[in-house]
Parts: sequence; C-alpha cells; structure tokens
Amino acid sequence: MNIGFIGLGAMGRAMAHNLVAAGFDVTVWNRSADKCQPLVDAGATQADTPADCARADVLITMLADDDALAAVIDEHDLITALGDNTVHVNMATVAVETGRTMAARHAEAGKAYVAAPVLGRPDLAAAAKLNIVAAGPAAAIETARPALETMGAKLWPAGDDAFRANVIKLATNTMLVSAVETMAEATSMSAAYGIEPGDFLEIITHSVFGSPAYLGYAPAMEKRDYDNPEGFKLKLGAKDIDLALRASRAQNVPMPMGAAARERLAEAMAAGDGELDLSALGEAARRSAHLDD
Ligand code: NAP
Repeated sequence: MNIGFIGLGAMGRAMAHNLVAAGFDVTVWNRSADKCQPLVDAGATQADTPADCARADVLITMLADDDALAAVIDEHDLITALGDNTVHVNMATVAVETGRTMAARHAEAGKAYVAAPVLGRPDLAAAAKLNIVAAGPAAAIETARPALETMGAKLWPAGDDAFRANVIKLATNTMLVSAVETMAEATSMSAAYGIEPGDFLEIITHSVFGSPAYLGYAPAMEKRDYDNPEGFKLKLGAKDIDLALRASRAQNVPMPMGAAARERLAEAMAAGDGELDLSALGEAARRSAHLDD
C-alpha cells in the first residue's frame, strides 16, 4: 500500500516512522523540509510538494490546526490532486465544522475523507499505542484500516459522519486539559504546606488517578522541566479548548470547567509558556500561588 504523509511534527514523525518500519511505501512532505530527512533515512520518499503525496492509496495529514490544514489544502489545491481512489485521513485535532466542511468538499469532488484524530502523546505514537477514533464512509475507513492499525493500539469507529470523531476528540481533550490543570492546582496546594510535589504526584498517580491523562504529565510537573519537543504544546491544548467551547456553545452546552481551564492556559501563554509542554500548567499554578516569591 502507498501512503502519503503530510506533517512531521512531534506526532506525525513518530507515526510516519511506524508506517515505514511496517513496510508501507511512504512519501512524506513537511513545511520545514529538513524534518523529512530522518524519514528518508528510514526508507521513505521525500515529496517536493504536498500534491506529490496525494496520489497514494491513503493520504494522511497530521498538521497543527485548522489554519495549517487550510494552508496546505487550499494553497496546494490538494483535494483536486487526490487520486480518484485515494482516501484522505485527517488525524489532526481540528474543529467540528472542519469535519463537516472537509467531508462536504471531498464528497463534492468525488473523493473520500475520514477524520481520525488520535488519543495519546508522542511517546505513545512512537510505540504505536495510539487510540484512533475514526469517522467517515465505512469503505474508506476499511481502506485506511491497515495503516491506522499499524499506528495505533485500537481503532474506535465513530460512524459515517466525519465530524463525529472531531466531537469525541475535542470532548476528550477538554477532560485532559482540565485534568492537568486540577493536578497542577492540587500539587501547588500541597507544596504550600511543604509537601514535595514528587511525593504528592507519586501518591495520586499510583492510586485514584493512575490513568495516562495524569501519568503522562506528572513527571514533567515534578521536575518542573517543560521544554519537551516530544510533548503536547500548551498552545495546542488552548486551541483544543477553544474548539471545544465553540462546539459546546453552538449547542448551548455549558462547560464551566473547560472555560476555567482556558483562562489558566491564557495566563500561561501570556507568560510565554505556549511552546512548552501542557504540564507547564504546573508553573502557572505555582505563579498564581506565589510559591516561589
Ligand atoms: P507540532 O509538533 O507542533 O507539529 C505541527 C505540524 O504542523 C508540523 O509538521 C508543522 O510544520 C505543521 N504546520 C504548522 N503550521 C503549518 C502551516 N501553516 N502550513 C504547513 N504546515 C504547518 O504538533 P503535534 O504535537 O505533532 O500535533 C499535531 C496534531 O496532533 C495537532 O492537531 C495536535 O493537536 C494533535 N495531537 C497532538 C498530541 C500531542 O501530544 N502532541 C496528541 C494528540 C493529538 P513545521 O515542521 O514546518 O513547523
């Protein structure tokens, strides 16, 4: 099977490596072209333009956000460039409206579109242990299944309408960001009473909160070391909460916890922490409690 892969950020490069290692014929493109070299060294082909990836059996896009997707799709006329039987699988976390409009634009052009956002950080992507939520035409998901199952531990079908997978991903990330925020607050509260962050985090992650949502972010919070190119950028977490709040408001669904987490993310980004890992919410909580004054 031929696979085109666009977007070799923290997630995309790990996922593309697994496809190459599994023996798929992979063609890669990334805006910053230098990021293609490790994939080429592993056996992939480097494309000159995104359109050169679009004639594969499956085109995977793993770009930062809606703007990045729009830039690649529209500036390079990517939908037109897709082969007649190519399935476009968008694995990034994007807006619910994007799920709807992308599905409609592809359908109008007679092309297949699947939304398949992922649950899991880059280390899980590297270990091929992602949970992948896929929605779109059943036949298109079946075409993409071998690639998706290579990158993930489990494929969760979410129906025929692509936007449904985007809803599930955004709802999940509202919980994730809120979880990291409450862990940061509780760690600061304990620290104010002289309890070492590492001691507190060890207890909670080995008892009532022993889930990946907490385990993935506790070590960086303990070490206060948030500069991780293989992490989940705090500004991408803010993007996800914005998209979730927009989607919830469109249906008059109150999400007060998500809105509160978004305020803390704003504070962290104003302090210059947007490029750091989401666990840097730990620092925002410390600052607001004046723990280091
Ligand atoms: P990342 O490391 O920031 O990589 C972003 C990718 O998008 C890079 O390839 C970047 O190209 C490209 N890009 C950004 N703006 C662009 C533009 N205007 N035109 C073309 N390309 C552009 O992000 P990531 O962590 O891999 O995340 C990718 C997606 O997965 C996001 O939607 C994120 O929300 C989601 N996600 C992330 C995690 C995680 O833990 N990191 C987990 C689950 C889902 P350059 O290399 O040129 O900058």
